[in-house]
Amino acid sequence: MEGQKPCLRCLLAELEGDEYARSLEDYIKKVPEDKRVDEETYRRRLEQCSSCGRLINAVCLECGCYAELRALKPDAGCPAPEKRWLPEV
Ligand code: SF4
Repeated sequence: MEGQKPCLRCLLAELEGDEYARSLEDYIKKVPEDKRVDEETYRRRLEQCSSCGRLINAVCLECGCYAELRALKPDAGCPAPEKRWLPEV
């Protein structure tokens, strides 16, 4: 990613040629169902992140997390003051 322009509002899947992003995607696929939100919730959360100005190179600038990893967790919520998505538990 060095030398590349920051990718605004990009998720991991959109970071082309980034080996670390690919390994995180592999990790996400392997998280057991009982440790993650359902696909519909995950997709809805990531839609919010994808339209958020705080997402740069797949990282949320509010918390420093990869948005896809944070959005996966049932007990996590959007850390921004306006709470674009909420925890499930
Ligand atoms: S978690 Fe919230 S603040 Fe962070 S990128 Fe997603 S919507 Fe934006």
